[in-house]
This record gives sequence, structure tokens and C-alpha cells, in this order.
Amino acid sequence: MTQVASPLAARMQHVAMSPTMKGTIAAEKLRREGVDVVDLGAGEPDFPTPAHICAAGHAAIDAQRTKYTANMGTLELRQAVVNRYKLDYGVTYAPDEVVITAGGKQALWHAALGLFGPGDDVVTHAPGWPTIVEQIKMAGARPIVVRTRAEDGFEPSADLLLSALTPNTRGIVINSPGNPTGALLSEAGARTLAAEAAGRGLWVVIDLCYERLIYDNVPHNLPAIFGEACKDRLILAGSASKAYAMTGWRLGWAVGPKAFASAANALQSHTTSNASSISQYATVAALTGPQECVTDMLTEYQRRRDQCLAWLAEEPRLRCATPQGAFYLFPDVSDFLSPDGLRTSTDFCDALLAEEHVVTTPGEAFDTPGFLRISYATSLERLREGLTRLIRFARKHAPR
Ligand code: PMP
Repeated sequence: MTQVASPLAARMQHVAMSPTMKGTIAAEKLRREGVDVVDLGAGEPDFPTPAHICAAGHAAIDAQRTKYTANMGTLELRQAVVNRYKLDYGVTYAPDEVVITAGGKQALWHAALGLFGPGDDVVTHAPGWPTIVEQIKMAGARPIVVRTRAEDGFEPSADLLLSALTPNTRGIVINSPGNPTGALLSEAGARTLAAEAAGRGLWVVIDLCYERLIYDNVPHNLPAIFGEACKDRLILAGSASKAYAMTGWRLGWAVGPKAFASAANALQSHTTSNASSISQYATVAALTGPQECVTDMLTEYQRRRDQCLAWLAEEPRLRCATPQGAFYLFPDVSDFLSPDGLRTSTDFCDALLAEEHVVTTPGEAFDTPGFLRISYATSLERLREGLTRLIRFARKHAPR
């Protein structure tokens, strides 16, 4: 057979589709067939967008605020981000150091494209959210991925990250709280990293998209710690998606030095122009309005986390680190894998859906085979049902 050259650009050989949607598509098919599917695959809050935020969106439409805005976002919203970060972290930024984006994902995209390119190494960590690595590759740079350990609660520790630096390293991308582990970079680790990054002139990009979802009041002031050491090389990527249950509004922001903000502004001006005007007005209400909606959701997520960990503990072979943030559990399912049974965590996940109709995401999607991501962004009742089915399934398939 003759090989037909791909009609696509060469770069597409290195870009993989986000694998986290596969389960959702299979589940939708089952649901259409009338099957009672328990969906523990969701990467988004199950709560509605709070009413006062929706009202601000409606008001923006009614007032015909439906036209282009400045590429970098309205001054009002950039000021609201600045004020929020001052209140939450005590850090001082100016509105022209903020770019409003179509979700945190686009903020990270601007960082990858604006800072990294061919010849550059960029250090990040796994298990991790696949987009970070794909974006680094799309920018033409080389991702260097360090493996965090379940025994350490998957902390992306300073030692691990620093051990991966090469002479060509230009930056470090950290996701904290992390998807899929819920792990945090500790403040002590942040201090060590910040000092090293400052000494070596490295860029530090922090994906803070889950920053409002941290349990047990663990201190996590990464903006201040890194800001003190290397603010001129620090990018913070934030998002309204998880904090305010606004995933579909597509609203995030990148905060960083003015030169970076100008570069991101230029990139945005030639791609998406600006984030939706309506979403921008709604997010002003989110950031400046009452924050009880955030703490109420956090309290409920924490209740679910604790309850789910207790349920999972009924089967000790499903070993699970306690996540400190986000809304995922990431148990080790390797005790249930064997050469003549379920061979991989993808097999585990596919069979769990086929036999028990529970959607989860396999560790392979996060570059970490042998694990399973369980989202607890669903009701306790559905979680109880899903975990009961999961445990029954695991026991049935446990190698003897
Ligand atoms: N970072 C992480 C770790 C995520 O899990 C997500 C969403 N799944 C994002 C960033 C981006 O979210 P959004 O673009 O909706 O802000």
C-alpha cells in the first residue's frame, strides 16, 4: 500500500485531541438508550451559575452591551480582577497587566505562545491536565514532565521540578490546585522554587483555575510568594469557570508583566479579538459581588470529598490520596489490573461503563496509567450510587 501524505500541517502530528471527552460521548449514547448512567466524568461544577451573575448577563444583553470590547477586555473587568487579587492575596497589579480571555485555557495558550518556542524546554508535572503539555508542544517548545508521587499526595514539589531543569529550560508551568489530583504546591515549596526561578531568570506560569476550591483552609498564597521573588517573570492564569460555575461563559484572565500583557493582547487581537462582552459584564458581578456562592459551593464539595473518601475506603485496594483542592479523586486501581483480566486503567474504565454504567476518566488521559479520575461535581446521592457500583465492579474483577 502506498503511504498517503497527511493533508494537514506537520504540527498536527504532535497534537492529540483532549481525551477527557471520550467517556462523556459513550455515556450520552447509553443514556439515549434509556440506561441509568452515573456520570463521574464531569470536569465542571454541577451547580447553576449564581443568580446575580446571570442577572448581570441579562442586563448586559438588555442594555445592548453586545458589541466588541477592547481586545484585552473592558477596563471595568480588568480592574475587578486587580481588586480581587488585592483582596485575596494582597498583591498589587495594574489593569494593563491583565488580559481577559475566553477561559483560563486561552490565558495559558497566550502564556505558551508568548513565552516559549523552538529550542526551549518547559518543565511541568504529571499526573496533569493534558492541555498544558499540548500547548507547550504547539508553541514549538519541548515539555519536560516530572512525575509526582501518590505517596506524597502528588505534590509538585520544588525538588522534583528543579531536578528536571536543563540548560535550555525557559519556564515552569505549575497547576495548583491540580487536575486530576487536587494536589497543591506548598507555600514552602513555592518559596524555594521562586528563589531558584528568580536566580535563573525562568518564567513561572501558574494555572490557578481551581484557586477558589481549596479545602481545610490550607494557605496557598502563590501570587504573593512568587510575586515577591520574580513578579517580572510570573504569569497567573485564572478563570471564572470553576469558582463561579461559569464554564460555558468562557471567561478567564492572564495576569503578568506589562510586556507579556501587550504580547497576549496582540495574539488575542489576531485570533478571538475579545472574550464575549456579555460574559465580561457577568464576571464583573461575579468578582465584585457577594462571595458566599463560592464558599457555599466549597463547603458542599468538601462534604462530598470527605464522604467519597470514606466510601472508597470500604475497598482498601482502591488506594486514594486525599486531595487538597479541586473536585476530583484520583485512586490507584492497579491492584485490579492483570495480564489476563483488565490490563490497563483504560480497560478498567471502559468495562466499568459497559457493565455498571459509571463514567470515569482513565489515568491515561492524564499521562498516568493505573489510576482513575472520579469527579465529585455531582450530588451525594449519585456519588453513593456510582461508588457502590465501582466497588462492586472492582471486587468482581480483582485478580485472585
Ligand atoms: N486548568 C485546568 C487544570 C483545568 O482543569 C481547566 C478546565 N478543565 C482549565 C485550566 C481551563 O478551564 P477554563 O478554560 O474553562 O477556564
